[in-house]
Amino acid sequence: MFTSFLIKYAEIGVKGKNRYVFEDALAKQIRTVLKRCEGEFRVPKTDGRILVYADTEFDYDEVVEALGTVFGISEICPMEEHEVGDIKEIGKKVISYVREQYPNPNFTFKINTRRAKKTYPLSSMEISAELGSYLLDEFEGLKVDVHDPEVAINVEIRDKLYIYSIKIPGLGGMPLGTNGKATLLLSGGIDSPVAGYMVSKRGVRLDAVYFHAPPYTSERAKQKVVDLAKEISKYTGPINLHVINFTEIQLYIYEQCPHDELTIIMRRYMMKIAEMIAKENDSLALITGESLGQVASQTIQSLGVTNEVCTLPVFRPLIGFDKQEIVNISEKIGTYETSILPFEDCCTIFVAKHPVTKPNLNVIKKHETALSEKIDEMMERAIKEDEVIFVSFENRQK
Ligand code: ATP
Ligand code: MG
Repeated sequence: MFTSFLIKYAEIGVKGKNRYVFEDALAKQIRTVLKRCEGEFRVPKTDGRILVYADTEFDYDEVVEALGTVFGISEICPMEEHEVGDIKEIGKKVISYVREQYPNPNFTFKINTRRAKKTYPLSSMEISAELGSYLLDEFEGLKVDVHDPEVAINVEIRDKLYIYSIKIPGLGGMPLGTNGKATLLLSGGIDSPVAGYMVSKRGVRLDAVYFHAPPYTSERAKQKVVDLAKEISKYTGPINLHVINFTEIQLYIYEQCPHDELTIIMRRYMMKIAEMIAKENDSLALITGESLGQVASQTIQSLGVTNEVCTLPVFRPLIGFDKQEIVNISEKIGTYETSILPFEDCCTIFVAKHPVTKPNLNVIKKHETALSEKIDEMMERAIKEDEVIFVSFENRQK
């Protein structure tokens, strides 16, 4: 029975003197997600590792699932912990470990010993050789293969004895909060939640902006976006979701500008407003779910024209992905089912039959001058009336 886990992290191991910042951020998020689980846990950091101890009864699958939502973990290793004894006692523990984990042991193996407790009388090599021979004597189905074993049995001798052989892959990436904050343009579609997830995976906290156009878009469409934010917050941590009423601006553009340019002009104003909100809230970049060539507004020319309004970097992590690849990630992270619910998003009503696919910046800018009379005050109003919804996976109904 496992009562503890060794948490392995790859990338953050190499960060020199900033390492503790990364480890602290990782341990903090681990503690946060463990609150989703039954039981009491401790998450100490000791010589370059993070350990998770269950102090009470707990549900193994629930804990593994929770740890599987933490960016920065490369492997989750359930382990046994015992007092350090002499080599015969360690041998007994390893034998009983193998018996419990592999009811019919039939595989090639190797013992990896790490001896952090340097006062232990045998060297790592001697310990591995000794334990290996105990196992060979005990189990007929075992064979040693030091180069490519089916099972690597890890034995660590520290203040305690740790034994583990199971490695559950973690999400990888970097711990939340180690790379600042960015603002995600979150719609109800498949792409933008995935885009937010991917940037957050690099250690970035998220805010989000949703452009709502009542009565053209319904309350249910808005609720869908709140739900998507909640679903990704399982990984990204809490999100302040800014709901911007975009109706007035959209109607104004519809009234004043050529209809084949509606989408692109609207997108420029979305980016402008998102950037203003980002700057007010210390976000260092914007994120969109755009993917090159997916629709008219995502041609290379359109992206250029949209991008022109921004001074912050705009991250488009899906730029080179095919739709199916994006769908696969959305299924994996659990947003797909919500994303495909049939509520219209803000743009559908105002979409032209033949939108421009190769907009020219000068032409677009010229047509935008038709908005100059009221657009600034409309943007100001939209931002002032910003509804901020605090979204956190931790606050959901159990
Ligand atoms: P998604 O699946 O994310 O909705 P999409 O394929 O529908 O994307 P577009 O509608 O062209 O693509 O939108 C491109 C990006 O612009 C979206 O990924 C999102 O980041 C942003 N966006 C679009 N509509 C909205 C909206 N109503 N509110 C906030 N952001 C939006
Ligand atoms: Mg969309």
